[in-house]
Amino acid sequence: MVGDARPSGVRVGGCRGAVESRTSFRAPRPPLPPLSFLFVLFLAAPCAWAAGYKTCPKVKPDMLNVHLVPHTHDDVGWLKTVDQYFYGIYNNIQQAGVQYILDSVISSLLADPTRRFIYVEIAFFSRWWHQQTNATQKIVRDLVRQGRLEFANGGWVMNDEATTHYGAIIDQMTLGLRFLEETFGSDGRPRVAWHIDPFGHSREQASLFAQMGFDGFFFGRLDYQDKKVRETALQMEQVWRASASLKPPTADLFTSVLPNMYSPPEGLCWDMLCADKPFVEDDVRSPEYNAKELVHHFLKLATDQGKLYRTKHTVMTMGSDFQYENANMWFKNLDKLIQLVNAQQQANGSRVNVLYSTPACYLWELNKAKLNWSVKKDDFFPYADGPHMFWTGYFSSRPALKRYERLSYNFLQVCNQLEALAGPAANVGPYGSGDSAPLNEAMAVLQHHDAVSGTSRQHVADDYARQLSEGWRPCQVLMSNALAHLSGLKEDFAFCRKLNISICPLTQTAERFQVIVYNPLGRKVDWMVRLPVSKHVYLVRDPGGKTVPSDVVTIPSSDSQELLFSALVPALGFSIYSVSQMPDQSPQKSWSRDLVIQNEYLRARFDPDTGLLMELENLEQNLLLPVRQAFYWYNASTGNNLSSQASGAYIFRPNRNKPLFVSRWAQTHLVKASLVQEVHQNFSAWCSQVIRLYPRQRHLELEWTVGPIPVGDGWGKEVISRFDTGLATGGLFYTDSNGREILERRWRDWGHRAGLIKSHPTPGGNTPLQSGVHLFDGNMQLTVLTDRSQGGSSLTDGSLELMVHRRLLKDDARGVGEPLNREGSGLWVRGRHLVLLDKKGTAAASHRLQAEMEVLAPQVVLAPGGGARYRLERAPRTQFSGLRRELPPSVRLLTLARWGRETLLLRLEHQFAVGEDSGRNLSSPVTLDLTNLFSAFTITHLRETTLAANQLLAYASRLQWTTDVGPTPHPSPSHLVSATITLHPMEIRTFLASVQWEEDG
Ligand SMILES: [Zn+2]
Repeated sequence: MVGDARPSGVRVGGCRGAVESRTSFRAPRPPLPPLSFLFVLFLAAPCAWAAGYKTCPKVKPDMLNVHLVPHTHDDVGWLKTVDQYFYGIYNNIQQAGVQYILDSVISSLLADPTRRFIYVEIAFFSRWWHQQTNATQKIVRDLVRQGRLEFANGGWVMNDEATTHYGAIIDQMTLGLRFLEETFGSDGRPRVAWHIDPFGHSREQASLFAQMGFDGFFFGRLDYQDKKVRETALQMEQVWRASASLKPPTADLFTSVLPNMYSPPEGLCWDMLCADKPFVEDDVRSPEYNAKELVHHFLKLATDQGKLYRTKHTVMTMGSDFQYENANMWFKNLDKLIQLVNAQQQANGSRVNVLYSTPACYLWELNKAKLNWSVKKDDFFPYADGPHMFWTGYFSSRPALKRYERLSYNFLQVCNQLEALAGPAANVGPYGSGDSAPLNEAMAVLQHHDAVSGTSRQHVADDYARQLSEGWRPCQVLMSNALAHLSGLKEDFAFCRKLNISICPLTQTAERFQVIVYNPLGRKVDWMVRLPVSKHVYLVRDPGGKTVPSDVVTIPSSDSQELLFSALVPALGFSIYSVSQMPDQSPQKSWSRDLVIQNEYLRARFDPDTGLLMELENLEQNLLLPVRQAFYWYNASTGNNLSSQASGAYIFRPNRNKPLFVSRWAQTHLVKASLVQEVHQNFSAWCSQVIRLYPRQRHLELEWTVGPIPVGDGWGKEVISRFDTGLATGGLFYTDSNGREILERRWRDWGHRAGLIKSHPTPGGNTPLQSGVHLFDGNMQLTVLTDRSQGGSSLTDGSLELMVHRRLLKDDARGVGEPLNREGSGLWVRGRHLVLLDKKGTAAASHRLQAEMEVLAPQVVLAPGGGARYRLERAPRTQFSGLRRELPPSVRLLTLARWGRETLLLRLEHQFAVGEDSGRNLSSPVTLDLTNLFSAFTITHLRETTLAANQLLAYASRLQWTTDVGPTPHPSPSHLVSATITLHPMEIRTFLASVQWEEDG
């Protein structure tokens, strides 16, 4: 879809019918020829009526209006795979067939013009759409235009909020919203975000939704105590101020907590999956006659519910998981409900008015109420649905899938970038048809709230991994085409996918080979390459043919070797190194008794008696921190007399608060070579770690290997890595929100949320993290970065822990119906924690830039060497940069991807928060000139869009809300007046760039 899609996915929208007359185009001369930018000017004027709401139903302003929202919740994989859900296969596992749902809903909508329905998951809808006849597509287009079929959210999936990285969230929303924009234009553009099922809600998600242009956000799950407090305080609806850095109202999002999660009210579920009685109203003598009773029941429900909200409107979600396969059952009864309830207005002066509606139309009425709304600034984690029932286990469930997802994000960005840099030569070339779309779609599927979250059945998790794996293949073809085009050499490229377990047939057998290292960052990197090799000595040459230092080291507890050398790679480009075997001699090793490793920046000392890390010293900043790191496990609860709740895929419930040592000491082994120093720690047969330092590295790397977790003793185990320091942290710690802004966390209690009591401090203190966790004492900051999403916590002052692996023997009764216990011998998992020690004011510079390099790590591609020339007339090149100038350190190139035949999608991001860095001034706004920034193509036309690229920014308008914390500045429309752009702290700017590729790449 991305590769050869038609140009320009974005149409001018906003105030339909009014836009064109307010728009003027001009083409000013840019400062540097030969660029000719077309810039769009927009005269600011709020829309006379808000876009997208004109088809909303009429309400009765003097009555309580009950907005019935017919909907289905279609998980993109959970108990069944995506395909099994779509086609309705294995209904013995779960009765669910999305194709029939959509068929049935469309027929039912046609039967009555007042009926409405919302649809959410574009992964399913787009698939169904492509199977329809032109006639059906026309009917559906009409329904969408009339507002009878409305899209809510509109992402490829309804993504999880705890275990997802913001880059992947933006990508999956972009994919879904692009389908809607291209298929239905602005008629199909969702106005509200709809996350009815994710298990807790992150602040960053709200910020991203606001930046995508959504007017409001609806969700279903929040902590049971928090919900009670909100109902009493009339705070079920608020304005969420979701960024501490972005100026309001940029990240303000009106947020509504649904009254009954996302289910219909009790007794009013008329799906074939429900057992509630349908209306019997035609014959009062029938023993089954129930109309009067049902109407009475409904009126009471509506009135009670209305009291928990502030306006004369309330919403009822009429549907649930995979409902509406027989839509007629629902609609027939809803028709009767509406008719009978509204008849009461005439009959006995009832003040309740019920109508078919949608979340957007409900929101529109709230907006018109012109109330002052309270403001929320933190997030909705953790989520508990009862005492001892914290949904904090899934932050760490299925750690291998979580890593595969993160690695695939990295690979997809490299694939996208090479497609953008090489242009059409990436899609069709000597290696066949290359395509980034399958991996883009697979990654979007992985963001679903039962996918990367680790809460699906095992066979579904296997299918998610299959989708990623199949997505990698056409990307490998694409990258081979692109690398051949850009380097000028047709090599037999090899992608060793098992480098993390030291397997790569080419490097382990060949006498000579080439290593192409591609760097997706906007700055050059110095990257330590590690490759499995046979027992030899190797000579490594850089792109200029000069020999560079290299080492061969033995991998812990094996006979295998790895070759190490440091690669210098330019920004957004590659360097090609060549490796050849030397005459045999045994690799040099050096052993030492003193358990210390150090380089010019860091020193790590280990306890000679226990073998545990004991002390970390930042030599440059003269900081010394005693820190002990060890592995522990929580004994998973299987239920007790306080509660029958067991620990499971969703829920973390340990038997007791204190974890048990995996081992109090480690067998150690010290390796010192010129390019690496390592302490190998062996804690048990199933837990080991390598702690290493490379030259010039400012962090300590802890590579842990855990599993298969033994469960022969009948105990499920949840394994953590814990760091204990003497830092006086005052009960506070800090974690990222979806890998982006940092939130303060508090382990002692929920004092900052009045009235809430934690039934269990250990699971209740767990918070989701994508990037890392920090502790500081006012002077020193200890940061631990992760390589995947994980749960982390600080349960006592100066201590922090990360959950690395879980294996559980009981199901936690939240629907998945399987214990988190991979059949057979279990799974071993390997991962890395990076530890940084800094002064407070300089810590952000260290951890932000290191985290960026973790997410966008260089990609190693191998080749035997000696390939033919790509084009005879052009000399091959061993080094390439796609940028003419490096990006400043505060700027991340978030997206560079092919959008259309001659269009690229470009996102640039300021990756520092306000006031975060005082050392290098990295929190200041930064200005960039995009003119001639890229070397592989010239930008000829630039349009700025909202975050998900489905609306031009100049025409985007959002509903405005007033808050009780003072006036919110009026959002001013964005003018793109030149190719010089400024990024403010935490700002992401999104562009569609028309480009011309350079002839020679
Ligand atoms: Zn769901």
